[in-house]
Amino acid sequence: MGYSDKVRSMYQEQLKGIHDAGIFKQERFIHSSQAADIEVEYPTGSSLKKVINMCANNYLGLSSHPEVVKAAHEGLDSRGYGMSSVRFICGTQDIHNELEKKVTEFLGTEDTILFPSCMDANAGVFEAILTDEDVMISDRLVHASIIDGIRLCGAMHDTFKHSNMDHLEKKLILHADKRLKVVITDGVFSMDGDTAKLDEMVALCDKYDAMLFVDDSHSTGFIGKTGRGTHEHCGVFGKIDIITTTFGKALGGASGGCVSGRKELVEMCRQKARPYLFSNTIAPVVVSGVLKVLDILSQSTERRDKLEANTEYWRKGLTEAGFVLQPGDTPIVPVMLFNAKLSQDFSKDLYDEGIYAIGFFFPVVPNGKARIRTQISAGHEIHHLDKALAAFIKVGKKYDILGKSKQEIIEMYGL
Ligand SMILES: *Cc1c(COP(=O)(O)O)cnc(C)c1O
Repeated sequence: MGYSDKVRSMYQEQLKGIHDAGIFKQERFIHSSQAADIEVEYPTGSSLKKVINMCANNYLGLSSHPEVVKAAHEGLDSRGYGMSSVRFICGTQDIHNELEKKVTEFLGTEDTILFPSCMDANAGVFEAILTDEDVMISDRLVHASIIDGIRLCGAMHDTFKHSNMDHLEKKLILHADKRLKVVITDGVFSMDGDTAKLDEMVALCDKYDAMLFVDDSHSTGFIGKTGRGTHEHCGVFGKIDIITTTFGKALGGASGGCVSGRKELVEMCRQKARPYLFSNTIAPVVVSGVLKVLDILSQSTERRDKLEANTEYWRKGLTEAGFVLQPGDTPIVPVMLFNAKLSQDFSKDLYDEGIYAIGFFFPVVPNGKARIRTQISAGHEIHHLDKALAAFIKVGKKYDILGKSKQEIIEMYGL
């Protein structure tokens, strides 16, 4: 019978359930390249609207940078469009090797292996280096791709409360008998924009003989004095055993990821990680673009410095206007609204004012913690931030939340 009417209606029911729960994801079509100013078709079929993008992972403003685009063109001309192979058959060019070396140097590790994405890096790494004699101890708020990697690995899994070092220590003591222990965390957590306590984690891992794994996807390129990542920021550069990161965010934003760290662990990935062995090579055009990005970032800290200044300006403006922010100092700046519907209405009104910023609510963030997550970019100029700030204030006045505390907003709108 195959895809019968009964099967079809079962799926239609499920999709309706997603709709009715108000969590149906509707894509908005951007008709321009990724930048601070974009042209958006939303709702679908409407005429294009020019808006300021406040929710891209384009932290360094490199997604459409002329030098990166030029380097990508040159890569396309000199190395072709696709490789039609995985790395170990006939999918490795000199530039893949060159990029692995450059990433190693940038991150201060021993070796690096490229993956089609950071999702793939996280999916492959644990299974490649651990067995059922080992344990993985992860922060409770790690990224979904890490959770999938943990599921694919036969080692035992345990968790510790978010950024709670006492709890982590208890878990390290509890699992003292395991052959290998790996502590797993994000460097910067994407929903709240808070930073892992890597200095304390390194000390605990030393004390209890554990390896430390850090996914630095929301840090590489801009966190730390020279943008190397959370390990630089926390004063533990060179001390992380395994770093995974993406080229799909600050580093040009195209695609690709990597595992970088101790050379034996990287070699184990080369021999055994399934997304590496069974998924296609990163396209030469992308490799060429990322090589240029790393050149730009190694020559000057200008872009991460501008991002830092923009972030300070944005946080200060919102705070002075009387918004409740999630505290922190990364370019992820969540404006807390608590109520799910308010976050959707707020986002829609911002859009009408020419500001593109998406409202997040359960299950993307915990119940009662709905928010507009803004993300600052070095591609923003002060006039972008001023215009966005004016729009936030106008909409904030409409809902009468300026100067109101968390408790007052919850009393007005409920959870
Ligand atoms: C975005 C992200 C990923 C996925 O990166 P891709 O290269 O797009 O697959 C993995 N981990 C974290 C923490 C991320 O934020």
